[in-house]
Amino acid sequence: MDLRNGLRPLGSTPAEFEQDLLSNLYYRRGTTVESASAQDAYETLALTVRDRLAARRARTAAAHYESNPRWVYYLSAEYLLGPQLEQNLLYSGTTDFAPAALKALGFDPAEVAALDVEPGLGNGGLGRLAACLLDSLATLDIPAVGYGIRYDLGIFKQSFVNGEQVEEPDDWAFQGDPWEFPAPDDRHRVGFYGHVGPDGWVPGEQIDGEPSHLLVPGYGTETVNIVRLWRARACEDSFDLRRFSAGQYAEAVEQAVKAENISKVLYPDDSTESGRELRLKQQYFLVSCSLRDIIRRFRFRNHDWADFPAKTVIQLNDTHPTLAIPELMRLLVDEEKLDWDQAWSIVRQTFAYTCHTLLPEALETWPVAVLGRLLPRHLEIIYRINDGLLGEVRSRFPGDIDRVRRMSLIQEEPERRVRMANLAVTGTFAVNGVAELHSQLLTSTTFDDFATLWPDRFRNVTNGVSPRRFVRLANPGLSSLITSGLGSDAWLRDLSQLEGLAPLAEDSSFRSQWRSEKRRAKAALGLGDPGALLDVMVKRFHEYKRQQLKLLHIITLYQRLRNEPGRFGVPRTVLFGGKAAPAYTAAKSIIRLINAVAATIAADPKASGLLRVVFPPNYNVTLAEKIIPAADLSEQISMAGKEASGTGNMKLALNGALTIGTLDGANVEIRDRVGAENFFLFGLDATEAAALRRSDYQPRSYYDGDAELKHALDAILSGTFGGVGQEVAHSLLDRDEYLTLADYRAYVDAQDEVSAAWTDQERWTRMSILNAANSGFFSSDRTVADYLDRVWRATPVRPA
Ligand SMILES: *Cc1c(COP(=O)(O)O)cnc(C)c1O
Repeated sequence: MDLRNGLRPLGSTPAEFEQDLLSNLYYRRGTTVESASAQDAYETLALTVRDRLAARRARTAAAHYESNPRWVYYLSAEYLLGPQLEQNLLYSGTTDFAPAALKALGFDPAEVAALDVEPGLGNGGLGRLAACLLDSLATLDIPAVGYGIRYDLGIFKQSFVNGEQVEEPDDWAFQGDPWEFPAPDDRHRVGFYGHVGPDGWVPGEQIDGEPSHLLVPGYGTETVNIVRLWRARACEDSFDLRRFSAGQYAEAVEQAVKAENISKVLYPDDSTESGRELRLKQQYFLVSCSLRDIIRRFRFRNHDWADFPAKTVIQLNDTHPTLAIPELMRLLVDEEKLDWDQAWSIVRQTFAYTCHTLLPEALETWPVAVLGRLLPRHLEIIYRINDGLLGEVRSRFPGDIDRVRRMSLIQEEPERRVRMANLAVTGTFAVNGVAELHSQLLTSTTFDDFATLWPDRFRNVTNGVSPRRFVRLANPGLSSLITSGLGSDAWLRDLSQLEGLAPLAEDSSFRSQWRSEKRRAKAALGLGDPGALLDVMVKRFHEYKRQQLKLLHIITLYQRLRNEPGRFGVPRTVLFGGKAAPAYTAAKSIIRLINAVAATIAADPKASGLLRVVFPPNYNVTLAEKIIPAADLSEQISMAGKEASGTGNMKLALNGALTIGTLDGANVEIRDRVGAENFFLFGLDATEAAALRRSDYQPRSYYDGDAELKHALDAILSGTFGGVGQEVAHSLLDRDEYLTLADYRAYVDAQDEVSAAWTDQERWTRMSILNAANSGFFSSDRTVADYLDRVWRATPVRPA
């Protein structure tokens, strides 16, 4: 029997939906309408929606099996998926059914919806990019699987106590996760430690990886892909009954606890290497489980290893999954008995690598001693790959010892370490940066030697964001206006159609509707102050992103307000959002100072109605979806040459915020598209910034030479803000690694232009519409199309 035809189709009417909801409440949740809690109702709703997607998933899987296609596998240590309920309602076409069905059963839809918890399995931009790419892969009908780790505790919950960041664990799946399909029977065993014997690696410790998957539906198509997440489990024999019987309860479960620690917690830092062995274990755990699963899928329909690269492309999202390269070598050479050269050729044709940084300190390295102890066979393999690499370098550049030293997979000084980025470049057929400028800087600085050796390996794929998530779901009001302006909602699958809004920028009634959508979004945020410009800086806290520059501007505005009201400008609400890594002291000091400045300004009646600083805690996707629609001004003010791309900048431009920014990351491409006249540019460019850094940079000379800057820093130093933030001021005056003071004057002047533009609301709205109209390029659908064209070479498969 063909089960696909045998499946009872799920109803597509409101009445059938309500019926399914009721039967799921009884049969799967095991309760009744009378005794059901809101949590019961939420989980039942999730199951009812999930079933509809699961039916599509079954058809997708059948189509994939039949066509034996080329697969795109995305390996990422992070996925910042965002809340699932609203998305899955939209993608299953049931958004309009759910509230009525819930009400009919006596539940409050808003209360039920509020129980949806976002899986915070990522830190920031890198994890959110992974989620947007999965969304677009499914929307474009590409056979794809995302692999990641199901951390018990995701990115920490941030709160403020006396203005200071406090971190609390995020037990996101405490109530269980109704969107997930666990598959405990599909475990893979993973080894660590041990030694290399005559027949290969003999691990000294073993644990199991247990998968579960979440459905990743495409929008406006039948395809439903999956993201498969691994959870560490102790092997069955790890419980020590003998010790338990002897009353040694903690010792009895010690092994199990140790094993399960591997997927316990997401490391709350995406920019510096923590040096913790547990993190390396996580990386190998992800890679080992995922490769085994990829090979299992390959074997459904294929037998010959020579076909593997034609059927498989594996994208490494940054260096975290780079151990996949030696692991696949090990599987092919030690277990499948291929010869080294054949295995290396397969590996080299299978992997591709996305680099996400330019910060040298964020290029991952691991001590040889740590890696060799944890993964002795992999270290041997890395050495052999290195022999091949250095042989090639020596024959191309005879006598160039310095070059050999720079390119080696092993750094020698001050201690021997494995350079994961070099390994990733060596073991892949394609390496991409994430914006034009970033990709250029990668080949001219970070990877210049590799780009000289293998120029064809490097390419650019500019990041993008999902228009479904960050326009349609985040901003339903603006989405309806866009749809009515364009005459159709086809823009949600082809964002270049937003160009059709450009003529409407000249239509005063459209402009007035556009403005009311902004006002509505501000009111929904509780920032309904109608005249005030909402100035938004939301992103992780990092000194290179320069929240401290925004802060100096706020202090200057406050001082003008008190001393020179004529120069103040327009009423503003400045909104910050973002977390600092728990160990990143300097970033936490900036957070504390922002909160102190906010409190000082809030307590000053002179500032009332003119200047306000708000900092809602715990910035995440849920909060981003509320803030971004309301923003008038988008702060993208990193030191040029440091931000790889940014994606927050794209989300904000698509929602009609105007950008004030440096020529950094994707800002460059945003400005090219929206037009220089609709973008507030300031500051040093990447070349000038690098030159100033190399010269004898004296931040104090800017302080001495600019009365307003001096006044702002003096205010901090003299304790105006409750005595808080001295260390921030000192660090700026003494070192200022990211050239904050050098860019201060240009920034404040550009902000004066912003204020002037705001006073002409018709002009501002025109600029706002043109920003959205010309940002269609920044859809992650376009990003995926570029990956398909430049890297993946996979073709769509549509379910019958
Ligand atoms: C988009 C996004 C980011 C990335 O923001 P950038 O401004 O590009 O650094 C970080 N966190 C969340 C929750 C996001 O949605």
